[in-house]
Amino acid sequence: MSFLFRLRALHLVILCSALLWPALAAAQIDPPESGATERNGWENHSWHVMGTRAELAFWPGTRSAETTVNAVRAEFERLNALLSPWVETSELYQANAHAARAPVVISEEFAQLIDTSRQYSLLTDNAFDITFATVGHLYDYRAGIAPDDAAIAEARAGQGMDKVVLARTPDDETAALSFLHERTRIDLGGIAKGYAIDRAVALLREHGVAHAYISLGGDSYVLGDRRGRLWQVGVRHPRQDDAVAITLPLADVAVSTSGDYERFFIRDGEHVHHILSPESGRPAGALVSVTVLAPRAVDADALSTSLFVLGIEAGLELAETLEDVSAILIDRDGGVHYSQDLLGKD
Ligand code: ADP
Ligand code: MG
Repeated sequence: MSFLFRLRALHLVILCSALLWPALAAAQIDPPESGATERNGWENHSWHVMGTRAELAFWPGTRSAETTVNAVRAEFERLNALLSPWVETSELYQANAHAARAPVVISEEFAQLIDTSRQYSLLTDNAFDITFATVGHLYDYRAGIAPDDAAIAEARAGQGMDKVVLARTPDDETAALSFLHERTRIDLGGIAKGYAIDRAVALLREHGVAHAYISLGGDSYVLGDRRGRLWQVGVRHPRQDDAVAITLPLADVAVSTSGDYERFFIRDGEHVHHILSPESGRPAGALVSVTVLAPRAVDADALSTSLFVLGIEAGLELAETLEDVSAILIDRDGGVHYSQDLLGKD
């Protein structure tokens, strides 16, 4: 059964759920709350990593459940150590600290993520831009601090993927990263968790796992089905904690939700959140939540952030041009907008 066929078959269910929004009470989101449990053969694990909560539910494969969980945990730790903007020894931290002065040698893995990010910048007319961090680091969501217009204007001189130069040796053995402006900074917060999910799915497959749900914050993948039933993936209600706005019955697909509720503070009634419009250096305004379904989590992640910045019209337009990509956008008034494939009209 093709991915799109499955989605079309689902559109009625989704629309029915959407009609209930915003009154829908908390439904079950797989898997349960926290820790590690085993129930009827299913393993359920939950832990904190990469600044968010990881959840893993799976039917053990060819290795012991413990071996599989540990492999996934170790992989997330490895990626956090490589890509975190807060860990001083991470390649990303080191690049931000030094690449404006001299080329910094980075791993091919990090280099490929920068390449992928650049492709998304090109695809989205720079709505997706990892150099948003040049301005983004001036925000402190916990302390409720946002930069003023002058500070944004000054920092924006260093923003833009044209300031990010990757030089590779002919054999592709070594990549060196340089920034062409002293203010330039990058952050992979809009794509790294999706990448980590894809890596986890590859590991689960290596361990013979055929049925699993794995998530990192708003990024997830459902591997196979739930042994005879589809997985019920809940899209968080953007304005009610622990409530589900829409439930998606799915199998073998990545689901990524970008919301303005993950990191934010309220100032003068305005929701100051963590998804920035690179054009203005201010939080992107029209939407409160974007969910993207795609075959790979890295794409779903980058696209959910991208569509959030692009807004309803341009966001849906982009989703329509991409094969095997579906999108559900929730606007500020609670209006829900679906890509055509979900409405069964394509
Ligand atoms: P999360 O799961 O953390 O909510 P999202 O996929 O919603 O992640 O992306 C939000 C994160 O993306 C921000 O915390 C920031 O690190 C990064 N980001 C913010 N604005 C942009 C942008 N315009 N382009 C690329 N990345 C961005
Ligand atoms: Mg994202």
